[in-house]
Amino acid sequence: MPADRSAAPESADYVVVGAGPAGCVLANRLSASPGNRVVLLEAGGPDKAREIRIPAAFSKLFATAYDWNYRTAPQPGLGGRELFWPRGRTLGGSTSINAQMWIRGCAADYDGWGLPGWSFAEVLPYFNRVERRAGPGSAYGADGPLWIEELRSPSPITAAFLAACREAGIPDQPDLNGADNTGCSPTPVTQHRGARRSAADAYLRPAMRRPNLTVVTGATVDRLRIADSRSGSGRRVTGVSYRAADGTVRELTAQREVLLCAGAVNSPHILQLSGVGDPDRLRAAGIEPVHELPGVGAGLQDHLSAGVVLGCPQPITLVAAESAGSLARYLLARTGMLSSNVAEAVAFVSSAGSGLPDVEVIFAPVPFIEHGMVPPPGHGLTIGVVLLQPGSRGTVSAASANPAEPPVIEPGYLSDPRDLEVLMWGMRQAERLARTEALRPYAGEPMAPYDGPADDAGLAESIRKHSETLYHPVGTCRMGADDDEGAVVDPQLRVRGLAGLRVVDASVMPRINRGHTMAPVYMIAEKAAELISR
Ligand SMILES: Cc1cc2nc3c(=O)[nH]c(=O)nc-3n(C[C@H](O)[C@H](O)[C@H](O)COP(=O)(O)OP(=O)(O)OC[C@H]3O[C@@H](n4cnc5c(N)ncnc54)[C@H](O)[C@@H]3O)c2cc1C
Repeated sequence: MPADRSAAPESADYVVVGAGPAGCVLANRLSASPGNRVVLLEAGGPDKAREIRIPAAFSKLFATAYDWNYRTAPQPGLGGRELFWPRGRTLGGSTSINAQMWIRGCAADYDGWGLPGWSFAEVLPYFNRVERRAGPGSAYGADGPLWIEELRSPSPITAAFLAACREAGIPDQPDLNGADNTGCSPTPVTQHRGARRSAADAYLRPAMRRPNLTVVTGATVDRLRIADSRSGSGRRVTGVSYRAADGTVRELTAQREVLLCAGAVNSPHILQLSGVGDPDRLRAAGIEPVHELPGVGAGLQDHLSAGVVLGCPQPITLVAAESAGSLARYLLARTGMLSSNVAEAVAFVSSAGSGLPDVEVIFAPVPFIEHGMVPPPGHGLTIGVVLLQPGSRGTVSAASANPAEPPVIEPGYLSDPRDLEVLMWGMRQAERLARTEALRPYAGEPMAPYDGPADDAGLAESIRKHSETLYHPVGTCRMGADDDEGAVVDPQLRVRGLAGLRVVDASVMPRINRGHTMAPVYMIAEKAAELISR
């Protein structure tokens, strides 16, 4: 990537805030028209760390300069614990630190949004526009910017997990990104030839030489500039105010639009710091309300996950990924354990026994403990369980008017009692898989934090003590129909009542998908690029 052009202009047609998948897609697509002057502001630095390229190394980036390093508020549903929430803070955003799983969810997820233009049939072309698929499956695009491949060196234990699924009656799913993902499958990954492909790789670097695109790193947007509109009717966003890498506060004017792509935590936070939100909550944080929009920061949803962790009597798990031999193999051929995304296979199942999945089982041939930040005590494996359709809802709220102070993240985990029941059902399935003939050669004794099979009360207690985020917050600037008062953006992603501003990122998803959240964010941004250019 060419040297950082930190001398940002003072004005642009489009100001894009945040270089995650949404921001990178918009920067690329909008700057493809030479007449558009586009500036992309990213709070983090350039994506230089070697661990970004090495698929298995993503947890090495947690709690570093590449991570916002958030914590939730204490969670009453989880024994008062504060959960660690990593979020990417560099070019590529969270796609530079994530687990690379390309799983869109089901057609019903998008149909269920019930919004004009956003049914599965209508959004499929935008998924396909992103995808460059090398591997099985019929529903993919073949010539988009983002490689989606199969793992090059999956663990033999992953094949055993898939056999265990079949043994337990979970069928193979040959088209994981088709209309209904029920069944088991190896994980398709955003990799090319054994290296991660982030949004910066796929969308930003190819556009960086365009003279009409300026990318500024180390630029943290604190507030939007809001003025009464020229016609006198309503308000207009005219630009942003940001802190540059040298600590100075600068202003950038948007001649056409500001596009907020800072993610499900930071986009609502920036709106609130600008006085946009629920007036009472803003005043409580010491912020003078400018524009009333009660939905800002409400509607937070996330995928909560629990898991079965077992020792493995065979010394072949990813615990050995950092050995000299494994590193040499990766550096020479980009194969071996370091090319693993860790979460090598998945199964989607329904706790109702039929119908669409509400539980995902994720297999990792390693004990994934404390987000992979704690070295495991020995060889082992993890069968993770994910609550796909939580009923619980939460909030993101500015803690004060100081932009440097992190917002209060209150996910409300397990505040809907049904969520615990579904997770318990999922854990019973994971325990059943662990006892199959297929996994018998690999499944050893329970490994902490998993305590082993327990009665219902013990299992519920264990879930409250040990479950963690799957890193998928959405819904904090929810999209809704024009007459939906609680919505933050309309189906064109325009912020209600504020001209010149759209939100384009995970925060606009009205309901979390039965999959992972990166794919829909790319799709949303591809569609947004078209809506903006109309
Ligand atoms: C550890 C981890 C693992 C994950 N694994 C997967 C997976 O395997 N598959 C999957 O589908 N999804 C996964 N996800 C989720 C997925 O990466 C996100 O859903 C997706 O990246 C969200 O995109 P976004 O554009 O909304 O936000 P982000 O990717 O978070 O990007 C937001 C960007 O905005 C920047 N920014 C924020 N505030 C400001 C500001 N004030 N000024 C300027 N810039 C700002 C940030 O630094 C960041 O670069 C994972 C996420 C994490 C954190």
